[in-house]
Amino acid sequence: MKFLSYWHDTAPAFAGAAQSAVDGHFDVAVIGGGFTGLAAARQLAKAGAKVVVLEAERVGWGASGRNGGHLNNGLAHSYLAAKAELGKERAIALYKALDDSIDTIEALIADEGIECSFRRAGKLKLASKPQHFDAIARNFEAVHAEVDSDTALLSADDLKQEVGAPFFGAMLSKKSAMMHMGRYVVGLAEAAQRHGATIFEQAAVTEHRQAGSRHHLKTPRGSVNADAVLVATGAYTPSTFGYFRRRIIAVGSFIIATRPLTAAEIVATMPGNRTCVTSMNIGNYFRLSPDNRLIFGGRARFSATSDQQSDAKSGAILKASLAEIFPQLAHVEIDYCWGGLVDMTKDRFPRAGYHDGVWYAMGYSGHGAQLSTHLGMIIADAILDRPDRNPLEGLEWPAVPGHFGKPWFLPLVGIYYKMLDRIQ
Ligand SMILES: Cc1cc2nc3c(=O)[nH]c(=O)nc-3n(C[C@H](O)[C@H](O)[C@H](O)COP(=O)(O)OP(=O)(O)OC[C@H]3O[C@@H](n4cnc5c(N)ncnc54)[C@H](O)[C@@H]3O)c2cc1C
Repeated sequence: MKFLSYWHDTAPAFAGAAQSAVDGHFDVAVIGGGFTGLAAARQLAKAGAKVVVLEAERVGWGASGRNGGHLNNGLAHSYLAAKAELGKERAIALYKALDDSIDTIEALIADEGIECSFRRAGKLKLASKPQHFDAIARNFEAVHAEVDSDTALLSADDLKQEVGAPFFGAMLSKKSAMMHMGRYVVGLAEAAQRHGATIFEQAAVTEHRQAGSRHHLKTPRGSVNADAVLVATGAYTPSTFGYFRRRIIAVGSFIIATRPLTAAEIVATMPGNRTCVTSMNIGNYFRLSPDNRLIFGGRARFSATSDQQSDAKSGAILKASLAEIFPQLAHVEIDYCWGGLVDMTKDRFPRAGYHDGVWYAMGYSGHGAQLSTHLGMIIADAILDRPDRNPLEGLEWPAVPGHFGKPWFLPLVGIYYKMLDRIQ
């Protein structure tokens, strides 16, 4: 078994990183080479801005190259919960932004000719318990009537042709999609570069100083000056950007990938070939890869770290969950095990805008594989002084009390959700 992201292992490396010393004056400096930063850089460069991307590791190294590969529409919350918290207008705007995100990615892939197996697969939100189906059905009624008529409610019987596991029904969101995340992120970097962006890898920003409207960013390979800065560092945001670090809770999420399944195994487990998410608080998400592996993820343990030791512990839990959901795959070989950090906010709504001289987009709370491209482009447009399309404009963002970087409270949150899963 490889302790490595399947997406990283099966995508070409980005070959266009600048090899020179980090130097120069740019209109915009983008910090972070994931979907958010690269989509913004491409948009800015296309408009003629002189833009630099500074990435601490390599393009797609963070969550963008480690996720489950679900481009789902719908929020981290049920639509009903989002409406109760944000009001109907903003909840609808945010829901629509996720819909638009998938259209944005589909159009971008076509424009740039990125080969990444994009497919409108549809997403199933699976009821793990009978009472969860009641909540899913109530949410479906509101979603279908108010925001997304491309949805359907499936009974346990309907589900038999979708998933070979005993769930109690599901909501189907037909607009949702899937793709090869590694090939997409490298294709996005290549597109940004083709349009004129300079991309530095192994260039962690270790210092940020601002004098008037001029920013100075220091990395171990040199420094740059810029007129505008976009912080696109997600869950990996360092203490250099303390304002964001106190508002982002980095939570580990973990994934295993099986060997390619046979045609008979697919018929027995995932005949519908959609993205699937279970309804438990500590739930699972799964889909097939382009080469028919089952990519099976979950929070597993509420850990704030992802390294080989932590990933292996979570991988063992995931293997047991996989066997519980699909006993027919209990002994299937696991070829990959990896983890990454998810950029959660306290209320699980993302944030994007401008604070204290810098632009930002982050806090996707596990729903950023699609929204990050879209918000990156929206914030790029705001930097370019184009009409504001930011669905998060003006949404307050208080710091998480007692949180200064390492989320010490995660094990307690894990115990709480485990308890909820027992009683709900
Ligand atoms: C295991 C896992 C599963 C997930 N599954 C899904 C899913 O199925 N569907 C979904 O919608 N979302 C999912 N997500 C979330 C989604 O992947 C993220 O929301 C999205 O990739 C965020 O992109 P980003 O560009 O904002 O951040 P990232 O991709 O994390 O990029 C941030 C980059 O900033 C760099 N960086 C950090 N500090 C510095 C610095 N000082 N200087 C320079 N660079 C720096 C990092 O190296 C990193 O490459 C998942 C996340 C994980 C971890």
